[in-house]
Amino acid sequence: MTAASPAAPTLRDVLAAQHRLAGQVVRTPALSHRELDDATGAAVVVKHENLQHTGAFKVRGALNLLAADDAPRRQGVVAYSTGNHAQALAYAAARAGTPCTIVMPERPNPLKERAVRGLGAEVLLHGATFDDARAHAQELAAQRGARLVGAADEPLLVAGVATATLELLQQAPDLDVLVVPVGGGSGAAAACLVTASLAPHVQVVAVQSAASPAAHDSWRTGALVERPNRTRAEGLAVGRGFALTQELMRGRLDDFLLVTDDQISAAQRLYLTGARTVAEGAGAAALAAVLAAPERFAGRSVGVVCSGGNAGEEELRRALDA
Ligand SMILES: *Cc1c(COP(=O)(O)O)cnc(C)c1O
Repeated sequence: MTAASPAAPTLRDVLAAQHRLAGQVVRTPALSHRELDDATGAAVVVKHENLQHTGAFKVRGALNLLAADDAPRRQGVVAYSTGNHAQALAYAAARAGTPCTIVMPERPNPLKERAVRGLGAEVLLHGATFDDARAHAQELAAQRGARLVGAADEPLLVAGVATATLELLQQAPDLDVLVVPVGGGSGAAAACLVTASLAPHVQVVAVQSAASPAAHDSWRTGALVERPNRTRAEGLAVGRGFALTQELMRGRLDDFLLVTDDQISAAQRLYLTGARTVAEGAGAAALAAVLAAPERFAGRSVGVVCSGGNAGEEELRRALDA
């Protein structure tokens, strides 16, 4: 490991998060869909975080961060993101009465920009690329004395996100395997943390897009690596490995699979037609992995995290054509 990671959260932090988040998040349904079982040969249980506030699981982490720690609540928060991290933080900041600034690269997806502004956050457009936006966010946070909130190396985010796994283990106590999509790795790290203590018999399998394989390659090599970052699935579009999430996955994750963006689109289609639910690309990656490796999952009870549902119209059209 090349960079120091912040102290890893423990099960106790996850239980504290669950207590804090009671009544603040949707206890999302964990559902079986016959069409998904038929298509995969497995007994699939979908954890529907696409029905969570802001349409993705990330809000669990943002709410926990602002509820657990006064400092960012007082200082205000800054993030660079175009997607669900921005919406999650804006939502939690509005609830906490905390000023929130989101830096996005110029010419963002107008839907997402509008959603973040609609949640009351200040949106600053800066730079052509994500790296420019990041540098600007760092400067801004330093100038204002605000807290820069990253999407991965944040113990309170991981602990908050882990409440989804706690719920799922209660909703589906007989799972054999849990399949989780990965960008920066907070969701998979959280699943590792919770199952290690409460359900060590459950295998955890992570999934990334082959077009953005940084977390996968970091896990396989045991080093924090940078990789090309070209996936269409916004929630999975991350170009490097992170110390904290890699540390939690190491030794606990059973396997790490890659799927193509086209396999992800096909899984989105199956969610639409077979489960009558909207998954964004990142939200469909776990199902894509189960569809891609039937021999691995057939006949088993497989939990699949449908992590988000914020798909735009063009993305949905592509999915229906897949
Ligand atoms: C962020 C995100 C992911 C990836 O989660 P990480 O915790 O960054 O690995 C997956 N799906 C959706 C919908 C997301 O927004």
